[in-house]
Amino acid sequence: MNMMDSQADLGAFQLPEEVRQIRDVARDIVRNELLPLEKQFLLSKDHAHGVKETLNLRYVYDEKTADRLMGLSKETGLFYLLVPEEHGGAGLSQLAQVVAMEEFMYTAVPFPFANVPNILYGCKGDQIDNYLKPVIDGKKTTAFAQTEPDAGSDPGGMMKTKAVREGSDWVINGTKMWISNANECDVLMVQAVTDPDKRQRGGITMFLVDRKNPGVKIEEAGIPTWLSPRAGQYIVHFDNCRVPAEDVLGEVGNGFRLGQKWLTIHDRLMRGPLALGKMRRAIEMSVDWAKSRSTFGKPISERQAIQWRLVDMYIDLKALRSMTYEAASRADAGEDVRTEAALVKLVSTEWGARCIDHAIQIHGAMGESSELPLTHFYKYLRHAQIGGGTSEIQRHLIARHILSDAGAVD
Ligand SMILES: Cc1cc2nc3c(=O)[nH]c(=O)nc-3n(C[C@H](O)[C@H](O)[C@H](O)COP(=O)(O)OP(=O)(O)OC[C@H]3O[C@@H](n4cnc5c(N)ncnc54)[C@H](O)[C@@H]3O)c2cc1C
Repeated sequence: MNMMDSQADLGAFQLPEEVRQIRDVARDIVRNELLPLEKQFLLSKDHAHGVKETLNLRYVYDEKTADRLMGLSKETGLFYLLVPEEHGGAGLSQLAQVVAMEEFMYTAVPFPFANVPNILYGCKGDQIDNYLKPVIDGKKTTAFAQTEPDAGSDPGGMMKTKAVREGSDWVINGTKMWISNANECDVLMVQAVTDPDKRQRGGITMFLVDRKNPGVKIEEAGIPTWLSPRAGQYIVHFDNCRVPAEDVLGEVGNGFRLGQKWLTIHDRLMRGPLALGKMRRAIEMSVDWAKSRSTFGKPISERQAIQWRLVDMYIDLKALRSMTYEAASRADAGEDVRTEAALVKLVSTEWGARCIDHAIQIHGAMGESSELPLTHFYKYLRHAQIGGGTSEIQRHLIARHILSDAGAVD
């Protein structure tokens, strides 16, 4: 079979032309603009300011470079890549977003995008000007506050933070923990129990809370982690924090569902491209290294032990890509993708981390060098087996689906 025939056979799996065009634009930016900046980024002690990587641009590069990247993002329209058309964005399908993000995740250097949680598109009335528009324009940023000291995997059952209605306000009391970027954001999206009998089934409400609200007290020292040694996660206390009733996001009692909607796309499905870009880079680096590194008289690429690692990495990449594209395409078709997103989250983070682990091993000591992105990639993928819902919780969600009456195993 010649190359043309094999291309034709792949017809059903070809990406639409417009998606390939976006992929090519993203790929050019990564190769020409971001990769040349990568070593400086990795060697900077200031790049670890939290999981919202775009914040790091301001810490690592001079103003000119950070502004240039922001300018490029706005000029090409990529800044609004993830924003729906009715809100001034590119209106791209979920599949196109996945494909473009795989390109940007090929490097450790972040590219600035409007980081809009999908649930903010449900803003109403004054919320639109106060929160939604400034977040789309990058003038305000958000943090998601669900987890508490005693409520991580089971937030619905264990959440203690509560909100009580007093006149035209809600008064929030409680403590949230591990909240990424709480101290840098402008708006906290806070879940609180408003009906203890109903809890996650209609008794949790989501509030938009200004970080500067006098009832919000953030422990500024934060919680240093290997991902963010300078602290990107914070403990946040709500001490008789008064929030006007207009700042309920969505409906009272609907806040748990909103949290799940946000997590499904942002923290689960979009972990697919986050891993894919890093895995592809790790494989390419490993192939180059294995071909050029010789021991006992021949390149290590000629050793089966190394070849099999490369093959395992490649299988993981291809299988994850198929799963991610399927989940994105189903989301585009309007299907409920909670199970598919849980699969993508589980597989991307576990297989992603093991793929990088292979790459580190193939590189020997160089694999541990901070000049290469491998250990940086590993940290992000290993972290993602916990943040956004642990691997065990994803398995629990998938098991619940396949054991349910509706659980078609197709
Ligand atoms: C860097 C970082 C950033 C974060 N950012 C945010 C954020 O921005 N906002 C936010 O709200 N939260 C955030 N989190 C919190 C994160 O979502 C939780 O840590 C996570 O959901 C796990 O909760 P936990 O730590 O309480 O673990 P636990 O719930 O205490 O679980 C401990 C262990 O038990 C396992 N386990 C629990 N239940 C079961 C079960 N039923 N069956 C089998 N095993 C089980 C878990 O999988 C885990 O391995 C962040 C965490 C980190 C580390």
